[in-house]
Amino acid sequence: MTMSRKLVLLSAVALGGLVALSPGAQARHGHDAPATADTRARDLLSRMTLQDKLSMVFTIDGGGTMGNAPIPPGGLGSAAYLKTPAGLPPLQIGDAGLGLRNPSHVRPHGQAVGLPSGLATASTWDPDMARQGGAMIGSEAWRQGLNVLLGGGADLTRDPRGGRNFEYAGEDPLLTGRVVGATIAGIQSQHVISTLKHFAMNDLETSRMTMSADIDNAAMRESDLLGFEIALEVGHPGSVMCSYNRVNDVYACENPYLLTKVLKQDWKYPGFVMSDWGATHSSARSALAGLDQESSGDDADARPYFREILARDVKEGRVPASRVDDMAQRIIRSMYDVGMVDHPPVMQPLDVVTDTLAAQRDEEEGAVLLKNSGNLLPLSPTARVAVIGGHADVGVISGGGSSQVDPIGAPAIGVVKGPGKKEWPGDPVYFPSAPYRMMQAEAPSARLTYTSGTDIARAVDAARRADVAVVFVTQFSYEGMDTSNAMTLDGNQDALVAAVARANPRTVVVMETGNPVMMPWLDSVGAVMEAWYPGSGGGAAIARLLYGKVAPAGHLPMTFPASPAQLAHPDIAGVTATNVFEMQFHTDQELVYDEGSEVGYRWFDRTHAKPLFPFGYGLTYTSFVHDGLRVRHHGDDVIATFTVRNTGTRPGVDVPQVYVRLPDGGGRRLAGWQHVTLAPGESRELSVTLEPRVLAHFDEKHDRWSMPSGTYRVWLGSSATDESQQATIHLGGRKMAP
Ligand code: BGC
Repeated sequence: MTMSRKLVLLSAVALGGLVALSPGAQARHGHDAPATADTRARDLLSRMTLQDKLSMVFTIDGGGTMGNAPIPPGGLGSAAYLKTPAGLPPLQIGDAGLGLRNPSHVRPHGQAVGLPSGLATASTWDPDMARQGGAMIGSEAWRQGLNVLLGGGADLTRDPRGGRNFEYAGEDPLLTGRVVGATIAGIQSQHVISTLKHFAMNDLETSRMTMSADIDNAAMRESDLLGFEIALEVGHPGSVMCSYNRVNDVYACENPYLLTKVLKQDWKYPGFVMSDWGATHSSARSALAGLDQESSGDDADARPYFREILARDVKEGRVPASRVDDMAQRIIRSMYDVGMVDHPPVMQPLDVVTDTLAAQRDEEEGAVLLKNSGNLLPLSPTARVAVIGGHADVGVISGGGSSQVDPIGAPAIGVVKGPGKKEWPGDPVYFPSAPYRMMQAEAPSARLTYTSGTDIARAVDAARRADVAVVFVTQFSYEGMDTSNAMTLDGNQDALVAAVARANPRTVVVMETGNPVMMPWLDSVGAVMEAWYPGSGGGAAIARLLYGKVAPAGHLPMTFPASPAQLAHPDIAGVTATNVFEMQFHTDQELVYDEGSEVGYRWFDRTHAKPLFPFGYGLTYTSFVHDGLRVRHHGDDVIATFTVRNTGTRPGVDVPQVYVRLPDGGGRRLAGWQHVTLAPGESRELSVTLEPRVLAHFDEKHDRWSMPSGTYRVWLGSSATDESQQATIHLGGRKMAP
């Protein structure tokens, strides 16, 4: 895509409008059996002309990519639109990383409920929660007439400065695959296709349009691709979106290794590959590599490749007609598979109350309690509390870019603007769910005050007069820009926390961030909660967590480094860019991922670096003891069995995690976990079947997974660095098909 086209693509987001409450949930139907979907698609295909088939492979701007193109006839206003032949329903394709997007208020009733960030959902380690969130988004799409959702972000958060990490599910492929797969399954349970994106290695925003992510194929299979593979198995997405970047020099959307060899041959993927907006660079080369549909090709790409150019390539024999059959078959099959043809969307108001509650529950389970000295939390309902900063009197911050939800109630109900960024993606949007107001509701008889924090002296004064200070800090992350190399909070926020904590050591910090950040004040505060981007029910969730109406249950899906110097790549080249265009098109650089599959906590383990907070870590208001770890094999399954006991006085959720080290070394790897709620004093015996691909290397030469024979070390614990329960098991080794 040319720079000028991308400039058009990246104009500001505007907000507005209202959505009514809905009368209740809609009946939900099952999917077609896959065989039926295939057969029905084949049958329809046999009655379609070549022209019909070609018309399926090119979508046009839906008037909603940025909200500045006209809505095409038949379209609703969304990222892309396709008028289909042969009596099929049109494709109304909309963004929905974390909830429905409605850029520039293009759909008058397009406001929606936003889930907390992907990292919050991943922090639940609870695929059921992810599935419910996905079903919520899917049902809102169905009620707004959209039938293809651009969700399912599964790139690994290889770098804690990735600008879109908040859309993803963390640094581990197993956790990512299970959580994102469940979200996709939830979306598709509502007869709406979900994508799985951005395939693959689109792990940073720096130079995303031009860079090559260079990585050994085997290492890629064991890391980023394993996350996608598992998400695919769990969620069966109707579509996979190929990404902007190059992978080992070849653009992802014309990369035969990724699209044909891995996705369609090895993983037997029956759905279709669509390009990201501006990620198609050719006709025949892309078609032959495995791209099935060019997205918004009239607007986003340099040329409309999959229209006249592809038709000519077919006519002149550069692309066989059978390939076009395959493209159309894949698209139609996915439409039948999710039930979109039999259960088309019915426009109706959203069930806002139910949906907001779903978002709130997700946040309640996903916020991570990082520190709680002397049980400062939960707060007493009679304590005098000085609430400070983060616009906590108005709402909770959200991440920017194509996953931005236009929240219910905006702009009438208190969405505030941030420091003001004129270019893409505009000001940060605060969802009108104000933690301060919700805290007042939780503790009606207590004296609560709010101070903005811009004037540190006033905040210090408020903290001195209170029993407890609760400081809200925020970090605005967005698509197109990675966060600063130094990983520090913007503005005066670090100074604010330090000053407040000096005035009142009973200081609680609530972080609303898109990524891990440095916490120079950590030792001087009493408690810290990572709330991520809290979503539409965020204020209520935070208040209920602070007052102990619910107990924190989240565990980190990313390592919090003690310093950027500990990272595999201490600097991201180009991250000094101040402008989003410079950032994305920075250079044609190669980013060599020489750490291979040793991402995140695996890298920390291999380099013996001590993080600020390890992957998997999270406290709650009770305590758990793990005991009696035994590991055995049963046929090909390797099973860890252990006991978990709640040793505290409150009910709580525990997430016992099982890590392994392969006989030939390397960083330890997450091989499975459990998610369990226990009453005080209750204990339960649990078992975890270890994921076999985590116990293996990908053998590129023989094109298969290979589990080495030898002694595997196994750890059971409450984080990636917990060594309290250990065992070993000898495995004879085995080979597995890719
Ligand atoms: C993003 C995708 C998004 C698409 C359509 C692209 O810039 O990378 O995630 O779905 O735009 O808005």
